Amino acid sequence: MKQHYKITNKATLSDLETICVKKGLKLTVQRSIILDILETSTDHPDVEEVYRRAVEKDCRISIATVYRTLGILHEVGILDRHDFKHDTLGSRSRYELSSDEKHDHIIVLETGNIIDFKDDDLNRLREAAAKEMGFKLVDIKLELYVSRND
Ligand SMILES: [Zn+2]
Repeated sequence: MKQHYKITNKATLSDLETICVKKGLKLTVQRSIILDILETSTDHPDVEEVYRRAVEKDCRISIATVYRTLGILHEVGILDRHDFKHDTLGSRSRYELSSDEKHDHIIVLETGNIIDFKDDDLNRLREAAAKEMGFKLVDIKLELYVSRND
């Protein structure tokens, strides 16, 4: 049985600060709050959920700031954005910190839970398929929509 995959090499907040500086981004208080939220999240929150968590830390943060900040952090490659397609998940994009370790997602339809998983065999197959066609695999995106087996 495949195991849930726990991302182990996610950047820490201080790594993220360094990355922001390298990318020429000023690390404002609001940006660090949002980075901190994503660093400690495992549930791929959407904008509204990030906003809800952000106002708990600083009530002056506006949803417009959260939208803008997530957009900027995604643009510079610090965040991955996912558009999971299913009615139970709503239509908003979900965010997580980018990681060098590529992983896939299992979406549990009853609960809307999004679980990270990684399968090295599958990754090798996909790389081999791309290579066979004369390409280099740059990115992967696999979403398994599952239902509880009872
Ligand atoms: Zn993920």
